[in-house]
Amino acid sequence: MLKTPSDPEPKAAPRTRPRRGRRIKDARKLFARLREALASGAASLPDIASLVAAELPADAVAIYVARAGEFLELAATHGLNVNAVGRTRLRMGEGIIGMVAASGDHLNLPDAQNHPRYVYRAETGEDPFASMLAMPVKRAGRILGVIALLNRQPRLFAPVEVESIATVAMLLAEILARAGATDLPEEGLGDSLPRRYAGHVLAGGIARGPILPYGAAPPIAQLLTDDPEAELKRLDRAVEAANRSLDGLMAASLPGGSASRDVLEAYRMVAQSSGWLSRVKQAIGDGLTAETAVDRIARDLRERMRRITDPYLRERLADIEDMIGRLMVALGGGAAKPERADGYLLLVRRLGPADLLDWHARGIAGIAIEEASTSGHAAILARALGVPALQVDRGAVEAAHPGDDALLDAEGGTLILRPEPEVIQVYERALAARSVRAAALAKYRDMPAVTKDGTAISLMLNVGLALELDQLERTGADGIGLYRTEIAALAAGGIPDVAAQAAEYGRVMDRAKGRRVQFRTLDLGADKMLPGESNSDEENPAMGWRSLRVALDRPAILRRQLRALLLGAQGRPLAVMFPMVATVEEFRAARDLLEAEAGRIRPAPESLEAGTMLEVPSLLFQLPCLLAEADFISVGTNDLLQFLFAADRGTPELADRYDVLSAPVLEMLERLVAACEEAGVPLSICGEAAGRPLDALAFAALGVTTLSMSGNAILPVKALLAAADLTSLRPVLRELRRAGAAGGSIRDPLTGWAREHHLPV
Ligand code: PEP
Ligand code: MG
Repeated sequence: MLKTPSDPEPKAAPRTRPRRGRRIKDARKLFARLREALASGAASLPDIASLVAAELPADAVAIYVARAGEFLELAATHGLNVNAVGRTRLRMGEGIIGMVAASGDHLNLPDAQNHPRYVYRAETGEDPFASMLAMPVKRAGRILGVIALLNRQPRLFAPVEVESIATVAMLLAEILARAGATDLPEEGLGDSLPRRYAGHVLAGGIARGPILPYGAAPPIAQLLTDDPEAELKRLDRAVEAANRSLDGLMAASLPGGSASRDVLEAYRMVAQSSGWLSRVKQAIGDGLTAETAVDRIARDLRERMRRITDPYLRERLADIEDMIGRLMVALGGGAAKPERADGYLLLVRRLGPADLLDWHARGIAGIAIEEASTSGHAAILARALGVPALQVDRGAVEAAHPGDDALLDAEGGTLILRPEPEVIQVYERALAARSVRAAALAKYRDMPAVTKDGTAISLMLNVGLALELDQLERTGADGIGLYRTEIAALAAGGIPDVAAQAAEYGRVMDRAKGRRVQFRTLDLGADKMLPGESNSDEENPAMGWRSLRVALDRPAILRRQLRALLLGAQGRPLAVMFPMVATVEEFRAARDLLEAEAGRIRPAPESLEAGTMLEVPSLLFQLPCLLAEADFISVGTNDLLQFLFAADRGTPELADRYDVLSAPVLEMLERLVAACEEAGVPLSICGEAAGRPLDALAFAALGVTTLSMSGNAILPVKALLAAADLTSLRPVLRELRRAGAAGGSIRDPLTGWAREHHLPV
């Protein structure tokens, strides 16, 4: 019988005050006895259940172990009906026990039977028990079982009790793992069966390869000690070593100067706060080795932090984890990164920008991250690098085994561990179709982008990292239409100094080999925050104090960047554009700074152009004045659309609501093209829309002759343009715009027209 929340007779609300008297007796004694059991190898699970019941405040103890086939079986009990042993089974995710196994987190429930996920098993005789503390039994990230303490009284188990049972669970994991394979599972849950994890796409693409879970705790060689003094000394030495590595980091010339130093100081404060270290010391005093104690307290910290919703505090969790990693390495227990990881799919809990770059250099083919957001740095970088990336549900890191076959579908939003052969076939077909298409597109690389009616369109790249520059050769792009300078700052965690910036910009121009590069000055803020900065005070950060607005109010950073651009150019032609310009006055102020810096730097650039992004609709109503002053214009449709339609670009519910391919936007673009043509000012479009083939086709039909897009879009757009006749499209487009005058999308009928004409959309 399954009790559900809709059961007609819900129990009265529980008393959650802890019961007096029945408290933990002597954790050290319990751990010592478990240690003996571990050393002798003769421990039986019923003995352990009784031992735990005797030493911890529990009326009953149940030990469930994982069995092949993804279920948990009651393997021993003290206080429940022993006849249920070997009979009571729960599937992964079923009931409280299954939930704890699935999530890897403990549950502390004063009234377990009234929990919506409670599943009643009459044979266990668990009716009289109200409260339950269920703790996963994990080893090296694998779930081996669950240990549950039950009490008749409804009560919340106290933190010290939770900590003690967590330690018991660690020891139990060791006992289970070392026991013979006859009555205990050799495999953890989910070791052999396929597992799917839903996710959000961070960077599109599909990849198949062996999975590389990184960050799940490796097994600890020795759990308990007879010599706490020696362990305390080991801990002290490890803390010193971790401190030294942090000092080294802080002494190094930090990109971003004081901003990154502040971040590291904050990190040091959290990571080394005496609170958690003294708890580690206490656990060592209880008989745990230094690494067991660090791991024990770390798990607890992680769990607490996970319940916090404040993004700043959650970021601090990463700091603590990082410090724990350093301590574990110093104690000899941390996992080192493999030299190479070619073709592997990396699976991690969190990933910082520097680490992502590091893994990319080691050759990973895809990334799944448990805690990431689409606008986070990892996502920005993964997109920039063209590595498929997904944010996946929690639990994947624990369930994966290094080397397991996996499919990362960063289009449909799924990670599949150990996929079934039929699923593999479907994906293999999709991957094969992609490579056929890629091969067919390859021929366009060395062809100019020209439409069937002979209109030449210049296709340029949107990039933001030196790493991406080989796309220039791979795609045959005409240049870089948008170099997002803030990406390097985000990757470094701070704004690099003038020399480092100049070197980067110089490298970009070297690689461009004379092709045009339009450098956009730092566009930070809103979704692109540097570590340590926060816009939490602003109600609308996208419309807040960001980007050029900050740069004009605090001109030192912009001046340094402009100097770096001029230095990097080394006398070559230089084109600089400013983001988020809302008035001609702002453009003038920025251009004046550029000219002032240019007056000081030698050699002077062969030519110096000051352009503007067109992302704020107000500029559309200042065109005559703007076009008299700007050397070129690049339309950022991403931001322009969000401001035109008052529709946040990061809100998934609005993602498809308003369309670039709609009468109002096309009308606006047509007028802009005409105005720019009349003024003789070059116009390009560099928002995401420019890289969507159908949109690019419509822009070309409106007269836009330069489009800038991410590397993977260049060849598909070129192929479509090559097959399209703009003269026959124009009247169709006019008609569709007339019919769609109410503002809705004309995408579907335009797609229909393109298909009728056998165009590759
Ligand atoms: C845009 O807004 O369209 C644009 C290209 O800038 P970003 O996406 O970097 O804001
Ligand atoms: Mg923008």
